[in-house]
Amino acid sequence: MKPAPFHYHAPVTVEEAVAQLARYGGDAKVLAGGQSLVPVMAFRLARPGQIVDINGIEELDYARVADGRLHIGALARHARFHDPVEPGPLGHLLSTVVQSIAHLPIRMRGTFCGSLAHADASSEWCATAATLDAEMVLVSETGQRVVTAADYFKGFLMTDRAEDELLVEARIPLLPVGARFGFEEFSRRAGDYALTLCLAVIRIEGGKVTEARIGVGGAEPFPRRIKEAEATLLGRPFDHAACRRAAEFAAKAVDPMNDSQADPEYRRDLVLAMVRRALEKCLP
Ligand SMILES: Cc1cc2nc3c(=O)[nH]c(=O)nc-3n(C[C@H](O)[C@H](O)[C@H](O)COP(=O)(O)OP(=O)(O)OC[C@H]3O[C@@H](n4cnc5c(N)ncnc54)[C@H](O)[C@@H]3O)c2cc1C
Repeated sequence: MKPAPFHYHAPVTVEEAVAQLARYGGDAKVLAGGQSLVPVMAFRLARPGQIVDINGIEELDYARVADGRLHIGALARHARFHDPVEPGPLGHLLSTVVQSIAHLPIRMRGTFCGSLAHADASSEWCATAATLDAEMVLVSETGQRVVTAADYFKGFLMTDRAEDELLVEARIPLLPVGARFGFEEFSRRAGDYALTLCLAVIRIEGGKVTEARIGVGGAEPFPRRIKEAEATLLGRPFDHAACRRAAEFAAKAVDPMNDSQADPEYRRDLVLAMVRRALEKCLP
């Protein structure tokens, strides 16, 4: 099918884009990489009357380090992360995670911030943002606000972003030297969205865990850190038994979704397996 008719706008500045979003309200949709929006328009699951194409706003095309954080502009495409965008553990983490997103042609167009705006429960970047406590920078005609990942993800395909707000940037704190990470996901076919995924980040000092982050996506309507599981690791030696124990806590802590792809029991089993495997990748 073809999309329903729409009016097309091509702003070249953030000010122009947010003015158009303010003018058209809920009738307008931002177009970034188009890899999620265009299919839903083609199936007529979305029928926006106004498309605000941000691809001409060159100032939004960046991924750079400042103030101890990686700043990712709204036009930074997935493929930008194929090679580490910074030399520390965060750059390597992002270049590992990106390999699981869709297929190469989709990664060449789709954007990091577009994934955060779309907020699929199984999105690798959404889980990354939740695990690493990213901040989202939202701009509207009335000004700018910064929302932490814990407050940003609200439900299945739902975020704290208002209709007239443009997500201009995501900010991720750099990981300290020595931070270890592990990423695991399960999907039925290569390139599909994951049924469940886990990103784990561990720091070990003096033989004990000093920092633990366990983020789970795909199991619940939106990704989140599983603090109950993280707590089982802190202050203790990090070994296979610790990984198993944390995974068991995570599997108990989640309230898995039920849909045509997997029932809650199956997803809970996947959480158990994905969390254990992601943590085991962090073992020294
Ligand atoms: C076959 C296929 C497989 C895929 N597999 C995966 C996968 O495994 N994992 C995964 O994470 N993704 C997957 N995707 C989705 C892909 O990663 C998209 O690129 C991503 O979800 C959205 O990014 P985009 O830049 O294409 O956004 P668009 O499609 O342009 O927009 C998506 C939504 O976000 C809004 N939006 C976009 N940018 C902004 C912004 N800056 N501010 C405010 N609103 C904005 C749009 O209005 C729209 O509602 C897949 C897509 C396809 C077609």
